[in-house]
Parts: sequence; C-alpha cells; structure tokens
Amino acid sequence: MLSSNPSPMSEIWDYIVIGSGFGGSVSALRLAEKGYKVLVIEKGKWYRNPDDFPKTNWHLRKWLWMPRLGMQGIFKMSFYRHVVALSGVGVGGGSLVYANTLPVPEKPFFNSGHWKGLADWEAELQPYYTIAKKMLGTAPHPYMSISDHTMKQLAEDEGLTFRKNDVAVYFGKPGETVEDPYFDGKGPTRTGCIECGGCMLGCRYNAKNTLDKNYLHLAQQLGVKIIAEREVIDVIPDGKHGENGYQVVVRNTFGWLRKKERFITKGVIFAGGVTGTVPLLLQLRSSSLPHLSAMTGHGIRTNSESLIGVTTFDKDKDFSNGIAIGSIVDVDENRHLEPVKYAAGSGFFRMLMAPMISGPNIIVRLWKIIAAFIIHPIDYLKVIFTDDWAKRTQILLYMESIDSTLRMKKNIFGLTNTQNEKGPSPTAFNPKAQYLAHKTEAIINGKAMVLNTEALLGIPTTAHILGGACMGKDAESGVIDNKNKVFNYENMYVCDGSMISSNPGVNPSLSITAISERAMAMIPKK
Ligand SMILES: Cc1cc2nc3c(=O)[nH]c(=O)nc-3n(C[C@H](O)[C@H](O)[C@H](O)COP(=O)(O)OP(=O)(O)OC[C@H]3O[C@@H](n4cnc5c(N)ncnc54)[C@H](O)[C@@H]3O)c2cc1C
Ligand code: SF4
Repeated sequence: MLSSNPSPMSEIWDYIVIGSGFGGSVSALRLAEKGYKVLVIEKGKWYRNPDDFPKTNWHLRKWLWMPRLGMQGIFKMSFYRHVVALSGVGVGGGSLVYANTLPVPEKPFFNSGHWKGLADWEAELQPYYTIAKKMLGTAPHPYMSISDHTMKQLAEDEGLTFRKNDVAVYFGKPGETVEDPYFDGKGPTRTGCIECGGCMLGCRYNAKNTLDKNYLHLAQQLGVKIIAEREVIDVIPDGKHGENGYQVVVRNTFGWLRKKERFITKGVIFAGGVTGTVPLLLQLRSSSLPHLSAMTGHGIRTNSESLIGVTTFDKDKDFSNGIAIGSIVDVDENRHLEPVKYAAGSGFFRMLMAPMISGPNIIVRLWKIIAAFIIHPIDYLKVIFTDDWAKRTQILLYMESIDSTLRMKKNIFGLTNTQNEKGPSPTAFNPKAQYLAHKTEAIINGKAMVLNTEALLGIPTTAHILGGACMGKDAESGVIDNKNKVFNYENMYVCDGSMISSNPGVNPSLSITAISERAMAMIPKK
C-alpha cells in the first residue's frame, strides 16, 4: 500500500532520505528534530499488521524479495562474483529481517581501514553508541536457550569466552502488551517476546524493536513523510554541485507500468544499504553525478562471515525456541561466533544445503561433495529429510575482522559485480569456522552443512555487507568526509552500511546507527 502521498514537484523538501533502514531512520528523525522538512522514500512494503509477515520461510511470496517474480517480502539475496549478500527490504529496512543483535565492535574497528586517523573514533562514537542503544531498546538477553547452552559448552571445551548478547527486543512479560516502555509514552505499545525464534521472518508478536517502532514512529510525529513501494532511480543536481538542490526521480516498485515521478529537494541522504546505495551511486557517477569520487564502489567489506548449519540427529532437541541470536562466543579480539535460529517449520534452506567441505576448485569440491555423500549417506539423508529443519538445526554465524576488501563495479551490461581489491577474497572455507562447526557436531550429535553456493561455487554468504562509499580526507581517498558529507556535492550525505570504513568483525547495525547519529548531530539546525 502506498502511503502519505505527497504530491511530487508541488513542494520542496529540505531533505529526501533514500531508504528507511538504520542510517535512513536515524537521519529522518534527527533532521526533523532540527526543523527540516523530510521525505523518506522506501522501495519495499510497509508492514503494519503482524499477519503481513510470513509464518515460515516456505511462504516465499511474503518472505523473499524478488519483485519481478511476484515475491514482495523482506529478505533479499544479491548474487555477486565473490559473495552472496543478504539484506532487508521494507519500511524499517534490515531491522525487519535482522536478528536483533547489537554488539559494540572491539578496538581494531576504530583504528583501521579507510577511516583510520580521520577522528578519534572510539572516543567520539562512545556517546552515540549509548544513544543508539537507548533508541533501539537494547536489553541483555535474559534467557538461556538450547542454542546458548550449546555455545556455552563449546566455549568451555575450547577455553573461549561465552556471553549473552544485547538485543533490540522488548522482553517484559511474554505475550503481555504494555504502553510504550521506551519513549515517555510517545512510542507505540510493545508486547513481551514469546521466544518463537521467528525474528528473521519479521516479528508477528510486536516484540522486536524494529525501526518503525522507534526512529520512524517518532519521526512521523514530527511531520516526516514516508512513501513506500517507490524506488529512487536518479538524483539530478540543480547547479554543478547541487548548490540549488536536486530532483529525485522515483518509479513504482511493483506493477508492469512502473510510473515515474520527480521530487524536489535541497538535500539528499543516501541510505539504501550497500546493495541499494552503491549500485545507485555507481550508476549516477556515470550519469547525473559525475563529480562523485572515483573511490565509489571501493572498500567493500563482508565481516568475513561463515554460515554453517549443524543439524542434530536427536528428535528431542529443538533449536527453534528463543530469539534469533541470544549469545556470542569471543574466539579472540578479531573472531566471533553466534548461534542463529529460524522459527519452527522454516526449513527452506534445507533445499540449498551441501556437505561442509573445502577445495581449491569446483572439480575438487564437486568430487568431495559426492565423496561425502558416499561415505556418510545415512547421515546426510537424515539431515536433508529431518522432520523439521529449523527445530533440529543450530545455525552458526562466524565472523572475522580481516581487513581485506572488494570493489563493486558496473559491468558492460550495466550490472553491478565485485572484483578483488585488497587482501584475500572472502572465503567460503574458513578453517577456524569449520573447526568450531565440527566441535558443535560432537556436542549436539549432528552433521554440519553449508549453502551449496559455498560448497560448490566457493562463494561465501554475508548478512553484513559494508563499505563502498568509505570515508577519506579528500575526494581522492574517499566518497564521504568524516562527517558523512559526499565530496563535491552540497547537502548530500551517505548514512548506511556503505559508509562503514573498516571491518567491525561483529554485527554492524548498532555501529551504523551510532555513526549516523554522529553525522546528523553535526548538521546545524534549520
Ligand atoms: C537475515 C539477516 C540477519 C541480520 N542480523 C543482524 C543482527 O542480528 N545484527 C546486526 O547488527 N545486523 C544484522 N544484519 C545486518 C543488518 O540488517 C544490516 O547491516 C543493516 O540493516 C544495514 O543498515 P543500512 O542502514 O545500511 O540499510 P538497510 O537496513 O539495509 O536499509 C536500506 C533500505 O533502503 C531501501 N532501498 C535501497 N535502495 C533504494 C532505492 N533506490 N530507493 C528506495 N529505497 C531503497 C531498501 O529497500 C532498504 O529497506 C542482518 C541481516 C540479515 C539479512
Ligand atoms: S522471538 Fe518471536 S516474539 Fe520474540 S522478537 Fe523474535 S519474532 Fe518476536
């Protein structure tokens, strides 16, 4: 459903925010508080009712984002040469689909990568992390699910540190709805989490603190308009550097006749997430915004993740109870492991799993996959045909802060792809991740499997794609300055994962929120 329909061209906005994820939502609220007139444009749908979200991930039309195939859900997969990037779509962006986990990165994040030396990041961001945590309703995870017990056991066995996560969930009394507990009555009602494990399908129980329940809710009270189901396809400056403002061209996301409209604004915030902002900036650099830095698309980082599903053979174990991620194991300062879950019945990924192997090329890997099935046929058949994949599977999310980068580029067909830029490409065969998965196999009596894009094609999957519009001291070294302002254009900012200029090594949404808070704090009042 389209919403709050402002008529294009008839009014002039102070800022148009492209995308309503973490960076976009912070920008919308903080700019409105400063007296600016703000319009948020979001290409996905607006999820106002619990039933808008799917019950399980078999409900592809409500879960997956492939609009040309009629799938209008919240979960998008973008396929590149070196990585499969997962992201969220809809009013609230990645907060709709994410696993609520909000860690503060360790020291190396603040002192490395493209933003190194551009500010005392650790000290400067500290107050903004505090604000971000408060706004997102972060609370310590109060329970111990079977996943957390498994990770605790693993940590004890390996001499590692186990701890509970801070998460953006209202716990309260399970199932009980209360008046706004966060914003002195200005926020919406919240309902106590019932630990259904469905956070990554969209919370059907009003317990997850998604951005539409905090930043965007408050922003609307200050007059911010949000229009959903429209995609920004062009940003045309008035004046060489946008000194007289911009025309923002949008088109309807759905339907065969995708009507175009134009909006007039004095400023623009790019907040479409890496898979939205970076391809758009690359396209605009060769058309409407030729003065964008040549660094556009450089410095793409993935958190070097490994996603591994370990499926137990024991029918009395149920890993689907609890929140999506409730704890973390610190392998060391640069490596972390988290247990992830889907709600009962959500077995879509079983269709895509292959044995966890490694190998230098597709021939060797194909042979190893066949060999694994020949050597352990019963084990793999039991895993693939298990009664409820989500109940029986402990997904492991392993992350490393290695400073290697990719570059996003448009190819001759105009499609965005990646090429290796610095250091080793992200790998689908991380030995430490595989070692920990084997240890987990022993603890839960199960078998580890990975996505077949990883096992066969050697392409790792990431839910944490970052960078592409990194910071620099000038347009030669970065796309934005240390206040998030785009070099060579007036009143233009990037506030989303593409501004992240080093590898956090942990889930990035809290950092995206905190850095966006800092950037918006530096914009003067209207
Ligand atoms: C399954 C999953 C689980 C995750 N779990 C966690 C977690 O537990 N903790 C954590 O920190 N992170 C997690 N993440 C990552 C997190 O979701 C992202 O890092 C975060 O959402 C990125 O925020 P952002 O501000 O860059 O933009 P996003 O949140 O990605 O939002 C961008 C929005 O812009 C819209 N958009 C894009 N292009 C356009 C356009 N041209 N016009 C209009 N709209 C546009 C998109 O539809 C989207 O809604 C998870 C991700 C996934 C996929
Ligand atoms: S576990 Fe269920 S109720 Fe709790 S936040 Fe996640 S989806 Fe909502």
